[in-house]
Amino acid sequence: MVTLRLHNTRTRKKEEFVPLDPGNIRMYVCGPTVYDRAHLGNARPVVVFDVLYRLLRHLYGADHVTYVRNFTDVDDKINARARVLQEAGDGRALNDIIREVTDQTIGWYHADMDALGALRPTHEPRATEFIVQMVAMIQGLVASGHAYAAEGHVLFDVRSYPDYGKLSGRSVDDMIAGARVDPAPYKRDPMDFVLWKPSSAEEPGWDSPWGRGRPGWHIECSAMSHELLGPAFDIHGGGIDLQFPHHENEIAQSCCAHPDAGFATFWLHNEMVQVEGKKMSKSLGNFFTVRDLLDQGWPGEVIRFVMLSTHYRKPMDWTEEKAREVQGTLQKWRSLCRDVTPASEPLKHVVETLSEDLNTAGVIAELHQLAHAGDAPNLLASACLLGLLTEEAGGWEVHSHTDGADESRLAEIRNWLGAARAAAMTSKNFSEVDRLKAELLASGVEVRMSREAIELVPLPEFDSQRLWTIERRREWERAPDA
Ligand SMILES: [Zn+2]
Repeated sequence: MVTLRLHNTRTRKKEEFVPLDPGNIRMYVCGPTVYDRAHLGNARPVVVFDVLYRLLRHLYGADHVTYVRNFTDVDDKINARARVLQEAGDGRALNDIIREVTDQTIGWYHADMDALGALRPTHEPRATEFIVQMVAMIQGLVASGHAYAAEGHVLFDVRSYPDYGKLSGRSVDDMIAGARVDPAPYKRDPMDFVLWKPSSAEEPGWDSPWGRGRPGWHIECSAMSHELLGPAFDIHGGGIDLQFPHHENEIAQSCCAHPDAGFATFWLHNEMVQVEGKKMSKSLGNFFTVRDLLDQGWPGEVIRFVMLSTHYRKPMDWTEEKAREVQGTLQKWRSLCRDVTPASEPLKHVVETLSEDLNTAGVIAELHQLAHAGDAPNLLASACLLGLLTEEAGGWEVHSHTDGADESRLAEIRNWLGAARAAAMTSKNFSEVDRLKAELLASGVEVRMSREAIELVPLPEFDSQRLWTIERRREWERAPDA
């Protein structure tokens, strides 16, 4: 079996992946807080961990991988969004607006991530459906002295967990000195974070031993991963922006609640997204949601391919130039693979490349080689590992329309090219062959030459008029008085 090696943020090393249970590989990835469209930065972890999910399914079998990605549907940002709608004239109760906002946003999220060719995870828990488990976990933390109640809040006592800060490599004192902390009067230490907070009558709230309230963000992931994957599981993923404080806090909660379990073995973080070399920001006008790009006409498969062109631990830059280039590549690959039956398996060396800490850029280079060699069956089977050239992702290519006249013209030009090549073999002068090839390419026709055959493949940008001019030139040159 191919060895999978992954960079583990926890140890800051690439390590061989050895599953806790090869019959059930378990992965948790932090999902979105649902109040707005997903932007490019939100989409990157979805695509990155979708590739890891596909690879794990390939290595261990599709039925032996459990992937959980949550929806945070209780959060102050959601409440704020609902209040804006209320102030704009929505007369309904805040909770009704919140329910509509979260339902609608989850629908958008599914549509947009489906368009990127991401498989749906095994479980997509909504935080509000796991409040009972969160309250139980908080009660346990209070009982074991890792948390305390104060003024309707429950706070995690970071000084009670000596390993706090290990994931991100900071000490509590450094964090206090450098971070924007919220020094509320009811906190014993400014770094202590909220597990539970009180809700006003109109805000979403649930009964608890500390009064009516709602959970903090971090406890949601600890409770849901425990409920669906158990106290110890293989991989925890997310964007690098979640490493601190969110993942640090998840570790503190889960490891204190289940001290002997170990929580997640591997921690994987993807780097951030830029647009045209700059940090995405609304004020710079380079802030894009996935829907914005889809509406601009970029197929989801193109967005996905651009993302996978950069290694997940490097910042990724979205540029229009890259998108155009990738679109051309995908069109060529798709026309090469049209009506082709894929090989039964991805190529072993492609699997090995991807298994080296998700070297997606390396896999893409290998796919280019397969395409160059005209090996469509292996190209198809191997591209599927990256979720490219799949049937679901297709349907967007502009199909070229060649009519009967084009076909016979192409057949004739193929014969000329064959004759020119035969002549060039003897004369060692390939100028006519090169010229014809260049003209064909300019007409949107790909030339595939092997020892046995010459194939002319019209690409989506096929231009019938230009093909005709090639024929005309040949006629002039052959005319006796030319
Ligand atoms: Zn999380």
